[in-house]
Amino acid sequence: MTVTVSVPLPGRAYDVVIGPGLVDRAGTYVAPLLRRPRVAVLTDENVAALHLERLRAGLSAEGIDMVALTLPAGESTKSWAHLTQSVDWLLDQKVERSDVVVAFGGGVIGDLAGFAAAILRRGVRFVQMPTSLLAQVDSSVGGKTGINATQGKNLIGAFHQPSMVLADIDILGTLHARDFLAGYGEVVKYGLLGDAAFFEWLERNGAALSAGDQATRIEAVRHSVQMKADIVVRDETEQGDRALLNLGHTFCHALEAATGYGNRLLHGEGVAIGCALAFELSARLGLCSQEDPSRVRAHLRSMGMKTDLADIAGDLPDAATLLELMGQDKKVVDGQLRFVLARGIGQAFVTGDVPASTVLDVLTDALALRAQMS
Ligand code: NAD
Repeated sequence: MTVTVSVPLPGRAYDVVIGPGLVDRAGTYVAPLLRRPRVAVLTDENVAALHLERLRAGLSAEGIDMVALTLPAGESTKSWAHLTQSVDWLLDQKVERSDVVVAFGGGVIGDLAGFAAAILRRGVRFVQMPTSLLAQVDSSVGGKTGINATQGKNLIGAFHQPSMVLADIDILGTLHARDFLAGYGEVVKYGLLGDAAFFEWLERNGAALSAGDQATRIEAVRHSVQMKADIVVRDETEQGDRALLNLGHTFCHALEAATGYGNRLLHGEGVAIGCALAFELSARLGLCSQEDPSRVRAHLRSMGMKTDLADIAGDLPDAATLLELMGQDKKVVDGQLRFVLARGIGQAFVTGDVPASTVLDVLTDALALRAQMS
C-alpha cells in the first residue's frame, strides 16, 4: 500500500510517496527526474551500513549508477566542516546543474544534503529519502535546509524544496527505539498544534505504531505529512502560519543548547518536552485548561517518552540561563521572544506577547520538580 501526498507549491510542486519497499523500487521513482542515469547520494554511517547496498540495487534495477558519500552519524555532522566536505565531494564527482543529489538518512543528512544541493552550482535538485520517523514526518518536507552554528541550531541555511520525497515505511524497522520515539515527538506535535482528532487517534493507536504495525505507521506519516504540506503551501517561508510547526521548539532549542546538541537529548525528545512545557505555559497564562498539559504528559509518558526536565540526565543550567538560551532562537523578532501557545489541544497560535516572568516561573518550577525527583 503506497500513498502519495502532494505539496502543490507553484513552480516547485512535488510528491511525498509513503509506503513499504520504496528503497528497493527507488530507481522507478527517481528515473523520470534524471537527465543522465547517475545520482550522488549523501548518507550517514548507520544508514549506509544497513541500507546503502539495497539502495544501490534499487537504483541499478533501472540502470541508474550511484556514487555515495558516507558521513558520521549525529547532529554534529550539521556543521560547516561537513558541509564543505560534502560540497567538495559533489564537485569532485562532477555533479552537474541538471543532476540530482539524494539525501538518504535522517533529518541531519536531509538538512545537510539539502543545503549542499541548494548552494552547489547555485542550486541543483535533490530527492529526500528520509530514513528516520522524524525525517519522514517533518524534516524531509517543506524545504528547510541548513546546518548549526556555534551560536545556535539551524542558524545557517536556505529554503530549497526537494523534487520528490520517498518515505519507505519498512526502513523505520531498523531505527533504535529511542530514535523512533524521538520522531514520535514530532508526530504528536501535529495533533497538538492543529488537530485534536489526530491527537485522540494517536492516544488510541500510539502503542500499535510503536510496535511496528505497518498500516498505522503509514497513516501516521501520511497524516503528519499532509498537515505539514498544507501549512507549507500556505506559508512557505514562515511569515505566519508555518511558525505553528515550531510548537515546543523554543523550549527545545534552549534545552538542546544546554545539553550540547548531543546524545543527552535528541531533537525529537526536546520537542516532546518542549510541547509539554508550551502547554504548561499556556495553562499558566489561562489560555487552556489545566487538564491539557496533564493529558499531553500522560500520552507522552504512556509511550515511554521523555516528558519533563527530570527525564534529562546530567546537569542543567538555571532557569534564567535557559531563558537566555531561548533568546538565540531563530524566531526572535526585534529581540522579542515568540512562542507557539495553545488554547487547547489542536488549537495552537503564535504570539510575541508572553511575559518573560511567566516563562521563568514555568522553567523554575520544572527545574524544582527535577531537583525533587533526583
Ligand atoms: P538523525 O539524522 O541524527 O537520525 C537519528 C539517528 O538515527 C542517527 O543515528 C541515524 O544514523 C539513525 N538512523 C536514521 N535512519 C535510520 C534507520 N532507518 N535505521 C537505523 N538507524 C537510522 O536525526 P533525526 O532525528 O532524523 O533528525 C534530527 C534533525 O532534523 C535535527 O538536526 C533537526 O534540526 C532536523 N529537523 C529539520 C527540520 C526541517 O524542517 N528541515 C524539521 C525537524 C527537524
